[in-house]
Amino acid sequence: MRYLGREVEVEGIVRLVMESGLSARDRVGVQDFLLLDNYTSEAAFIENLRRRYKENLIYTYIGSVLVSVNPYRELEIYSKQHMERYRGVNFYEISPHIYALADNSYRAVRTERKDQCILISGESGAGKTEASKKVLQYYTTMCPTRNNTQSIRERLLQSTPVLEAFGNAKTLRNDNSSRFGKYMDVQFDYKGAPIGGHILNYLLEKSRVVHQNHGERNFHIFYQLLESGDGALLKRLGLDRTNPQQYHYLVKGNCPRVSSISDKNSWKVVSKAFTVIGFNEEEVEELLKVVASVLHLGNTQFGEDEYGETHLTTEMPIKYVSEDEVYYTSKCSSVIGLLDIYGFEVFQNNSFEQFCINYCNEKLQQLFIELTLKSEQEEYEAEGIGWETVEYFNNKIICDLVEEKFKGIIAILDEECLRPGDACDLTFLEKLEDRLGGHAHFVTHKLANGKIRKAVGREEFRLLHYAGEVNYNINGFLDKNNDLLYRNLKEVMCQSSNQIMKECFQTDELTDQRRPETAATQFKLSLAKLMDILMSKQPSYIRCIKPNDAKQPGRFEEVLVRHQVKYLGLMENLRVRRAGFAYRRSFEAFLQRYKPLCPDTWPNWQGKLSDGVSTLVKHLDYKAEEYKLGRSKIFIRFPKTLFLTEDALELKK
Ligand code: ADP
Ligand code: MG
Repeated sequence: MRYLGREVEVEGIVRLVMESGLSARDRVGVQDFLLLDNYTSEAAFIENLRRRYKENLIYTYIGSVLVSVNPYRELEIYSKQHMERYRGVNFYEISPHIYALADNSYRAVRTERKDQCILISGESGAGKTEASKKVLQYYTTMCPTRNNTQSIRERLLQSTPVLEAFGNAKTLRNDNSSRFGKYMDVQFDYKGAPIGGHILNYLLEKSRVVHQNHGERNFHIFYQLLESGDGALLKRLGLDRTNPQQYHYLVKGNCPRVSSISDKNSWKVVSKAFTVIGFNEEEVEELLKVVASVLHLGNTQFGEDEYGETHLTTEMPIKYVSEDEVYYTSKCSSVIGLLDIYGFEVFQNNSFEQFCINYCNEKLQQLFIELTLKSEQEEYEAEGIGWETVEYFNNKIICDLVEEKFKGIIAILDEECLRPGDACDLTFLEKLEDRLGGHAHFVTHKLANGKIRKAVGREEFRLLHYAGEVNYNINGFLDKNNDLLYRNLKEVMCQSSNQIMKECFQTDELTDQRRPETAATQFKLSLAKLMDILMSKQPSYIRCIKPNDAKQPGRFEEVLVRHQVKYLGLMENLRVRRAGFAYRRSFEAFLQRYKPLCPDTWPNWQGKLSDGVSTLVKHLDYKAEEYKLGRSKIFIRFPKTLFLTEDALELKK
């Protein structure tokens, strides 16, 4: 691209200081928020995002956290050549990119044999799923293969269209919105070739099967199947009518077709994906029978005096989507996990679903705190550098408020769900008031002095989350938490000859007299498992931001972005990162890269590596407070120091 009349690379721009006195950084912003002079200013943070977005620079770091702003247009930055440029390169040597992050995790797996995880968060439409696909593509393209790994790569990639067909839908916010959280492991052998994967799904929005809001659709698979054009198949499934308008469950949102979606093409992709993943023809047909039967059930009508209607319409499970899909192969050496899950949700009206999602985000923040601080501490100790305390808000108090045994909100909710008699949403709220009224992070409309707090409705409670406050409307909490299937329905399902139904409804569950876990408790348990999985790994973070609600390129709506910066906890991220050392590098790598900058280290340093680094940084005039030398690594406190060094290297070339 051209800049001030000179042809320069985008990467170069970020570092070069131009003759005019206008720093290129001023124009395109800083590539790491740690470089902001006023790093506590939210306004400066957002201005930096805006400047970069205008230049199509959608990626920016907060240290090792990658912030990504949805461009809503195809950018020419995802080619194989781009992937190659990021291979083996460190963060600050090249402009920020999701491939840099993917490559960093991969290198850690290869060289340090430490399991990694990449946590992707952001609100609906911010680009989480696209980001996870890009990471996966990077691995499947760049990693070595062995004879049999080609098919595994394909299967890893092809799991996406299948999961999206059953778990994604068109919503007002996103034409391809994932209605579930997804954790995917990619397993690598000792040579770094991907050899398998493992997928866990969370919180599938089951209610969408029977109800869609205006302008939204049901899950893609229904429309894809109807558009398949496979007359014989449709006939076998009893779907002679192929117009979605003719199916009760597909008309609620009054939005059968979407211009950005070709159901017909998607069908081709999905049916091919089934084969690649390893479903045989019969299995696919069994699955589609279930899909078709949902459509048929939706069109079933009941007489007045039948009690069947609610039985059938509220609880049609599509549980097979939330079962694990496992394709382990030989023993693996290490793992990179990818988590694509909703960020904080704050709507006009927040219900049980938002409560679960926001609770999940509190847990992820806990993980961030523990893993970041823990790994910092461990590294400082290993390197013999004194530990420095970092001030931060520990949100454990909020996690406890939600999940603590016997005392937390979930425990109280379960108690009400199990209590016979007059239990209802309002008695639940009363109990919350009684037991949690004094908690620093819990608020209702009642003030201690008997007065009324207007900002919280009579049917709401408010939680003061680490990222901000959210009011939850209690209507429907008990029902949604109960999530019960009627026994006679289960009995019928157990008798099905359909293999998939058999797997979903097992007879031993019928004989089990215990009450099944409530929805909130199930979620709490699966979150706890997820936390265990993630806790044993080194994390990287991708925080996605949606710049406008219109899904349009080039539009940066400040109010919307500010809200996300707040609820993603980015300013808090920045503060925690800024408190420690921003950057660390082994003596060897540091010397190798920067040795041209000092006559004593160029072309080669003969003595001890630590002495070489010491000589080099003295020559570069690093101040004592800017860095520390550990046993094998140099720690640099501010990215600015490093960027100036990079600038010097650039000028030298
Ligand atoms: P989320 O999973 O956060 O709800 P998606 O990843 O599905 O959001 O992104 C929503 C839409 O935004 C995508 O369908 C795509 O059109 C666009 N989008 C997201 N990320 C990118 C990107 N990096 N480049 C181009 N378009 C993108
Ligand atoms: Mg998604």
